[in-house]
Amino acid sequence: MKKLKILIVSSEIFPFAKTGGLADVAGFLPGVIAGLGHEVKTAMPRYDVISNDLLSSAQHDKSLDINVNGTLQRLDLFRQTDLVTLTEQLFIANDYFFGRPGIYQNPTTGKDYPDNDERFLFFCRGVLESLKSIDWQPDIIHANDWQTALIPAFLATSEADDPFFTNTATLFTIHNLAYQGLFPAQSFTKLGLDDELFMPTGPFEFYKKTNYLKSALWYADILNTVSDQYANEIQNDPEYGCGLEGVLKSRSKDLYGIVNGVDYDEWSPEKDKYIPFRYSPLQLSGKRNNKVELVNRISLPLRDNVPLIGIISRLADQKGFDLIEEAADELLSLDLQLVILGTGDKKYHSLLSDLQTKHPDKCAAILKYDNDLAHLIEAGADMFLMPSRYEPCGLNQLYSLKYGTVPIVRKTGGLADTIDDFDPTTRTGTGFVFEKYDADEMLTAVKRALAVFPKKRIWRTIVKAGMNKNYSWNRSAQKYVSLYNLACGKK
Ligand code: ADP
Repeated sequence: MKKLKILIVSSEIFPFAKTGGLADVAGFLPGVIAGLGHEVKTAMPRYDVISNDLLSSAQHDKSLDINVNGTLQRLDLFRQTDLVTLTEQLFIANDYFFGRPGIYQNPTTGKDYPDNDERFLFFCRGVLESLKSIDWQPDIIHANDWQTALIPAFLATSEADDPFFTNTATLFTIHNLAYQGLFPAQSFTKLGLDDELFMPTGPFEFYKKTNYLKSALWYADILNTVSDQYANEIQNDPEYGCGLEGVLKSRSKDLYGIVNGVDYDEWSPEKDKYIPFRYSPLQLSGKRNNKVELVNRISLPLRDNVPLIGIISRLADQKGFDLIEEAADELLSLDLQLVILGTGDKKYHSLLSDLQTKHPDKCAAILKYDNDLAHLIEAGADMFLMPSRYEPCGLNQLYSLKYGTVPIVRKTGGLADTIDDFDPTTRTGTGFVFEKYDADEMLTAVKRALAVFPKKRIWRTIVKAGMNKNYSWNRSAQKYVSLYNLACGKK
């Protein structure tokens, strides 16, 4: 095996900064790949929101000037080594771009920062200049989502003649195609690239706008997304392709699917440090105790024989909240309890707090980001609802399997790849699956689950089948290394 030098670049990395599953992946994958014998570094912006404790051993290494739209912006490079995995973490600092209270959005207005084009242009160019300044030539740069999309694009254009990067290949991972880094046409001129790259239907142009993501789909040596099903959907179905299905189809033979893994040290009921009672498939009683703790924490009455359904999610259209809105009255007329933890769109904040007001004994809505509570919900709830419109991979259904919290999911993307519908004749399956994006179909799946729940032995079979599934990172990490080698083979 050739030992590879790998840089993994992401705009969010757990535990430093997280808004969704991307951070979990970028937080855990580097260590696992390093464990397979490779030399791994990571790079992310040094946001103000990163707590100082997490950067206690970060050393200031270099100051550089980065050209952003004709203005030189100072970059301060900080380096820190993770003592467990021995991966090195590079932090790209600049007060003007990253010294703000939010990662992508102003938390007061809930709106994206208007200069996100420049912020992530600075980041991408800054990463490449930082590598030169520390004289570390990676074999592969693994970039993730639109915020890092300019890296493969720059390597193939403005950096193409720089011998420093001659042997550097790129893998670009699409965690969510709907977020593309779409900016006005003028944003393209800030990149300092040849005008012809902005010709209609060219690498950066998207209906007269500048599309960062498209440039990576065009230029990266290899592409992947985070499940096989989603890889198919985005090429073949305009509803999922978000206007980029043509480019994706043209890259079809370079586009792969790798399901995300789970960090089972962080997310398993045997080891979970955030829950009061540990449990396992052989010793399930702790799950009931966690339910008691959970209902107390969220002020719902304890009803042992009534299923408690959990939802932990960004409150976004993607996640199926319009179905929940449409089905709400009927859903809450059923004999169940519902706990929802999430933040996001204002309209869903009001929907969920109204539901809680209307059904105080049945519905608890906790409208914030709370990692501890997320763990307790996984441990204490009986079922987990994820009716996504689309789902590139999804992590919560994988956590739910491990916690014996039976998933009710829509058959899309990673949910389709990871949850098997319960079949009452063979008594096999790990959850309840519905196909069409439709409120009635969702309700039918919930009712099917409610009907099986009182049959304790059968329910336990489903719970245990899920708990025994293994989505650990090792398998996925090996697949990533295969893609790294494939990309390197193209240089
Ligand atoms: P996505 O990346 O599309 O948001 P995933 O299911 O892949 O969805 O990952 C979501 C991650 O974010 C999970 O780790 C989940 O527990 C976490 N999460 C989402 N919302 C919250 C919240 N309000 N509080 C705590 N954790 C949350």
